[in-house]
Amino acid sequence: MNNPAALGAYQSFIGLEVHIHLLTRTKVFCGCRSAFGDEPNTNVCPVCLGYPGVLPSLNLEAMRMSCMVAKALNCRIPEKTWFERKQYFYPDMTKNYQISQFASPLGQEGHVDMEGRGGADTLIRKKVRIRECHLEEDAGKMIHTGTVSLLDYNRAGVSLLEIVTEPDMENGEEAELFIQQLRRIVRYLGVCDGNMEEGSLRADANVSINLRGKGLGRKVEIKNLNSSRFVRLALNHEITRQTGLLEEGRTVVQETRLWNENRDQTEPMRTKENAQDYRYFPEPDLPVFSPGRAFLKSVEDALVELPQRRIGRLAAEYGLEEEQADMICEEKALADYFEAAAGAAPKTAVPRIVNWLLGDIKHIMGREGIALQHIGTIRLTPARLAALAAAEENGGVSGKNAREALEAVMREDRDPLDIIREKGWERISDPGVIAGAVRAVRDAEEAAFGEAKAAGQEGNVKRQRTLTAYLVGKVLSATGGRADPKIAGEQIAAVIEDM
Ligand code: ADP
Ligand code: ZN
Ligand code: MG
Repeated sequence: MNNPAALGAYQSFIGLEVHIHLLTRTKVFCGCRSAFGDEPNTNVCPVCLGYPGVLPSLNLEAMRMSCMVAKALNCRIPEKTWFERKQYFYPDMTKNYQISQFASPLGQEGHVDMEGRGGADTLIRKKVRIRECHLEEDAGKMIHTGTVSLLDYNRAGVSLLEIVTEPDMENGEEAELFIQQLRRIVRYLGVCDGNMEEGSLRADANVSINLRGKGLGRKVEIKNLNSSRFVRLALNHEITRQTGLLEEGRTVVQETRLWNENRDQTEPMRTKENAQDYRYFPEPDLPVFSPGRAFLKSVEDALVELPQRRIGRLAAEYGLEEEQADMICEEKALADYFEAAAGAAPKTAVPRIVNWLLGDIKHIMGREGIALQHIGTIRLTPARLAALAAAEENGGVSGKNAREALEAVMREDRDPLDIIREKGWERISDPGVIAGAVRAVRDAEEAAFGEAKAAGQEGNVKRQRTLTAYLVGKVLSATGGRADPKIAGEQIAAVIEDM
């Protein structure tokens, strides 16, 4: 670790505010389409444009998805939750206020048990407390071009869930891991696509430094972090900067800074306004929301096994290495696919399925431009993969031909066993047929056989083994890779013995 705060005298505190765009079909307080990348100002109406006299109405689906996240983050959902107006003046919000939640966030006092690898491959295990989750509307987008600024209100009113942590993290690596794990959770829940570049998951990072044991310091907020890597870099840079100030006997200014990715540093943006400036007051046009029994049940029913737990279960149930289980659980669709295939194959074929999945199959999908999340739709269905793995496992086909069959299934959308039969790739284990091939190789490779015999007589076991392997290779090529290498090896050894 290169930040002096970690070296003892100082302590660092990091709290994150993560905003996620919910995958609701429509916006949070009106019926406009909620979509990224549409023609500017096409998904707008009097409500999200803030015309006078219009009334918002709450999108229940947004509330349901929000509560799913709250539950997944071990938050308490209060009996009553309502909305406030957060007032500010800026052209990205025509009403001059944002409908948000202040006094009664829909999720309260949760936590995430983080576990995973941080920078330099150190194992991070840490509980991060979640202060709250609240639902609000996003603002429009401003595009600054030269002397004019353009406005696109398609994003105004899109459902945004804000997740606020306590300042429980201490360095950029921990914050990066938190974001990665949160991203995976919301993707598992299917409530957010987690795309940081497109802004569907955005994080603001708060960081302060103080002498160890003196509690929180004066915080700086960093914005404009559109990848989890930038979160790590910006925070570590900021910790170093603030520590430097304290070391020189200066103080940290409480302000908002921006991450400049071209210069790898944070830069001042504005001094931070505080809650009083927004003059929050209850939104008079929306009723208080009381999550009833039926609503809470629909939330429970929509929850899924979360990634961290699934990693542990897959490792235990299928005998996977922790790291393999982690890779398989990167995407829910991948884990679902794996379990479907492994469930349909003999237990002994599972390691082969894992290797193909993380090797050949990922590679082919990358080559074909199929995103991992769409693995459920590939031609190599879990059942086909299981059949192929079982065929190799019980000696029905060689490893090399099995991999070719795998490619062929992807190309031709046919059953792997049909392909193997048709191509004549079934393994030959008939000793008579193999003996024929061994005889042919013996005639062609007289010198090698002689040398192997001599090596044996000299007690040069290693040399004899190398020559035998060479000869087995010849039998394999003579049979198109189909002869059972074990039987071929035994027969060759017997021939040498008898010479
Ligand atoms: P604000 O009123 O400026 O929005 P909050 O108290 O609401 O500040 O906290 C916002 C975020 O900043 C939270 O994630 C919180 O954990 C974090 N935070 C608050 N105070 C500090 C501090 N002194 N150092 C680091 N992080 C902090
Ligand atoms: Zn609208
Ligand atoms: Mg705040």
